Amino acid sequence: MAPTTEPILEVGGLVKHYPLTRGILFKKQIGAVKAVDGVDFTLGRGETLGLVGESGCGKSTVAKLLCSLERPTAGSIRFKGEDITGLSGRALKAVRRNIQMVFQDPYTSLNPRMTVGDIVGEPYEIHPEAAPKGDRRRRVQELLDVVGLDPEYVNRYPHQFSGGQRQRIGIARGLALRPEVIVADEPVSALDVSVQAQVINLLDRLQSEFDLSYVFIAHDLSVVRHISDRVGVMYLGRIVEIGRDAEIYDHPTHPYTQALLSAVPVPDPEGRAHRERIILTGDVPSPVDIPSGCRFRTRCWKAQPRCAREVPLLAVPAAFRATPGPAAHPSACHFAEEAVPITPAPPREHGVNGDGPR
Ligand code: ADP
Ligand code: MG
Repeated sequence: MAPTTEPILEVGGLVKHYPLTRGILFKKQIGAVKAVDGVDFTLGRGETLGLVGESGCGKSTVAKLLCSLERPTAGSIRFKGEDITGLSGRALKAVRRNIQMVFQDPYTSLNPRMTVGDIVGEPYEIHPEAAPKGDRRRRVQELLDVVGLDPEYVNRYPHQFSGGQRQRIGIARGLALRPEVIVADEPVSALDVSVQAQVINLLDRLQSEFDLSYVFIAHDLSVVRHISDRVGVMYLGRIVEIGRDAEIYDHPTHPYTQALLSAVPVPDPEGRAHRERIILTGDVPSPVDIPSGCRFRTRCWKAQPRCAREVPLLAVPAAFRATPGPAAHPSACHFAEEAVPITPAPPREHGVNGDGPR
């Protein structure tokens, strides 16, 4: 199914701070780990949004919040228009059915003492209303078939499978409740490169077959390229740039995205894109002590005094707003407009912004 513009998830001002305490007996809060610190995005029905960023930038925390495995400190998550952040009891359970997670490491996320059939069928134990007992074994076998595994494997144990096959088991389990959204948290990061493509192709096929919307998390921009319709780049708990595939990969306007891309080898048979390698200096600051203003400024080669004072908002740069083009996508940099050559706007006849005489 082609992605639509009808939103299935709308995330606004999402924050997750973990209290940082000292002492065991008399716990005292001395700060907070700002794991997620103001994240906004929408996911269209049938769409795949790639979320990319270095380790520790808050990707897994966003994943857990989306799947209601954690409660946000602030902000909202709307699923098909309904705010799901304050739900509890039966309503929470119902929404959890619809937004399922596929985990990163197929070696540790599958219980080694459970058979494949029990692992894939476990969601039916938690949500017995989803499938009558007598039906479950048949459903599990069908799920195995759907992800490309032999249905006869139901009685085997995880250690009898390869990494790629184990991730297929994890995906089958994620599909058991027929969710509408799948949040895949680095689903291929633990796999050999040769296997990664097979798992990505499987997810791609399942998306059209089951009408799924994906949030696909990776730490590397090259991994999400072929599966994502749009990509969001995260840094220290925030999205710093977001846009359609071609916008992010060919016209990045945030220095952090530019640095990440400069580290990615690009197949370029015509030798067109001459990319300078940008090496970021310094370490990622601690999420306990986030720099003022632009949180990327301590590692940015473009930083100016303004960057320490003003928080750059994730917005389409003013100069690109009037001219639709690949640079016209949200970027949280004060100097995003200088990132690419600006095509001169056609001259206006009267006044500025149409406020002159007509
Ligand atoms: P990523 O998935 O991008 O590597 P995470 O979302 O796992 O990042 O973590 C973001 C930050 O939040 C990290 O600094 C991590 O140590 C911290 N963090 C994650 N979970 C917790 C928790 N339960 N308590 C305290 N800090 C946490
Ligand atoms: Mg993670």
